Amino acid sequence: MTTATLSIDLGAIVRNWQALDATSTCETGAVVKANGYGLGAPVVGRALVRAGVRNFFVATAAEGATLRAAIGNGPVIYVFSGHMDGDTGAIRDAALTPLLNSVDQMLRHVEALPGAPFGIQLDSGMNRLGMEPGEWSAVRDIAIAQGPVMLMSHLACSDEPDHPMNAQQLGAFHEMTDGLDIPRSLAATGGTLLGTDYHFDMTRPGVGLYGGLPFIEAEPVVTLDLPVIQVRDVAIGESVGYANSWTAPRASRIATISGGYADGLIRAMGPRATLYAGDVPCPVVGRVSMDLITADITTLGHDPSHLQLMGRHQSIDTVAAAAGTIGYEILTQLGLRYERVFSE
Ligand SMILES: *Cc1c(COP(=O)(O)O)cnc(C)c1O
Repeated sequence: MTTATLSIDLGAIVRNWQALDATSTCETGAVVKANGYGLGAPVVGRALVRAGVRNFFVATAAEGATLRAAIGNGPVIYVFSGHMDGDTGAIRDAALTPLLNSVDQMLRHVEALPGAPFGIQLDSGMNRLGMEPGEWSAVRDIAIAQGPVMLMSHLACSDEPDHPMNAQQLGAFHEMTDGLDIPRSLAATGGTLLGTDYHFDMTRPGVGLYGGLPFIEAEPVVTLDLPVIQVRDVAIGESVGYANSWTAPRASRIATISGGYADGLIRAMGPRATLYAGDVPCPVVGRVSMDLITADITTLGHDPSHLQLMGRHQSIDTVAAAAGTIGYEILTQLGLRYERVFSE
């Protein structure tokens, strides 16, 4: 079998959600955008529903429609991109709750689907999505008369607890929403860990559910085992891979594994990445290519059937550091060629 196995521990996802839920007394939602951070939104969503999750967040209406088909009626599905042109059918048919970002979106929503639920996204300083304070104060009374089910905003620096931006955005969000008696949500994973001041009525963690930073205590969720296709001896002074980028400093044994940048194994990680054969680290040598990676197994003493990239020895964030990126990107790039195996 030349397909890598991506093992996904649904039990760990549920326990990570429960651990984040236990930090607050408010509702805890679950962000499953980008196909559940690359792991499979339908399966992850169903596991979270079984664990009692009632509120989900996705990025787009199309993601919401896919999730609705998987989890059935009942849970609320919020859509961060709001109600865009062309979304009306999906929002209606899948009973989605768009988080409206602008006056234009609000007009579109109340005209197309009068009486259909919606929330409002406010910009507390990140300058990415949501109504800005001036716009909000101009339309606030009209908007509230339409009965929004949630007022939300998003923190720009919540993975840095000491960053002054956190308190600044908290203050701005209070200013825009205090006294309105509408449920509020500000915190993603990072904000959830900042403490009760940031929790309001609902937290909405994403990456922490999947075992990523900034949730340091998260249980790991993914294991990635890559099959070895071929093993060879390389003499001292011979080179391996594209552009001869690695030259054997000694007689070496090199394993070629199935998996490359087309599977989300980011090419830039090559010079710093390590694979594992059981407990033994096997450094990646040569370039990461589209479908293949070469690793030095000289010290191993036997030819393994698989090498592991993520799992017991290496987290998504360790791999991310080798590639100069963040765990979020490693997760959401996980390849479609992998066989995804879910365990409870
Ligand atoms: C992605 C996202 C989240 C979840 O963020 P994590 O850092 O993964 O917990 C929450 N809210 C908004 C608006 C988002 O875009």
